[in-house]
Amino acid sequence: MANVDQTATDTADMNQETAPKGGDGSWNWHPDVPIEYPPLYAWPMDFNKLRAWFILSWQPLSANFIVAMASVAVWFTAAPALERCVTFEAGWILQIWARNMVLMVAVAGGLHLYFHVYKKQGMKLKYDKRGMARKNRMFTWNDQVRDNMLWTLASGVTLWTAYEVLLMWGFANNLVPFLQWQAHPVWFCVMFLLMPLLHSFHFYWVHRFLHWPPLYKLAHSLHHRNVNVGPWSGYSMHPIEHLLYLSSVLIHWVIASHPIHVIFHLQYLALTAASSHTGYESLLVKEKKRAYLSPFFHQLHHRFFECNYGTAEMPWDKWFGTFHDGTAGTMKRIRDRNS
Ligand SMILES: [Zn+2]
Ligand SMILES: [Zn+2]
Repeated sequence: MANVDQTATDTADMNQETAPKGGDGSWNWHPDVPIEYPPLYAWPMDFNKLRAWFILSWQPLSANFIVAMASVAVWFTAAPALERCVTFEAGWILQIWARNMVLMVAVAGGLHLYFHVYKKQGMKLKYDKRGMARKNRMFTWNDQVRDNMLWTLASGVTLWTAYEVLLMWGFANNLVPFLQWQAHPVWFCVMFLLMPLLHSFHFYWVHRFLHWPPLYKLAHSLHHRNVNVGPWSGYSMHPIEHLLYLSSVLIHWVIASHPIHVIFHLQYLALTAASSHTGYESLLVKEKKRAYLSPFFHQLHHRFFECNYGTAEMPWDKWFGTFHDGTAGTMKRIRDRNS
């Protein structure tokens, strides 16, 4: 198994409430700052760093790899045959909805139980000092986790299913261009690698749009009630945000794909939203980082709002002047700009 301890963090320090090296001084833990983008965009390229980043992103316990394998397994065992999808019928639609529901509960619920109920990792690599909010009137039923579950399952799984149903119906009726594995095996695999980058591009622009004040007030503020986040917070969004967030999957109407790509694309959007909001940077096994979970990059967005609209995969924020690298200097610059 690959050791993904790429930041060479001293594990002896992980349990301490370390004095922050940047930011606003109230983190329980955070990685060294300034945080950096993947070496994909540095010139000249450092191939050792690039290799380490690729392994980190696609090693067997990475969210990317697990979701890709899950999408293959789903296609072969839990997807309706395309012949059934020619017309919209309750049977195959409910099958997709039930499977997506099980996946979401397993991933977000599993991470929540592991980190926040049984506290298997304690405070090690946890960003925020606080636990999930209770008796807080901002949330439905005054409970952050129950509120987040409601939006994730009722709105999120339903709209994820709706997009998947639409694409499956499109494949079944030859409206969506079909890519055969045998015809282009290399491109078939490369598409998996490109989808996180496509998501990064799409998410940056959709997210900036969601911060347009009227839309923020109407929809995105619901996600931002979670300043401190947990696995159920990631996909907890207003239906308008779900619609926009998932809309990158419509690219498969234009680019030839296999249903596995569509299943992967949607699972990636829904399920890695849970893992990337775990609130812990990485999963530790015997004091070694074995799986990267939640980027500090997005944690900064939840804390400071007007920064880091994209993802940590592509430097859109750097190119457009909204990058928060976690240092106190950047925080002051962003605060001054917004005041
Ligand atoms: Zn978020
Ligand atoms: Zn936002």
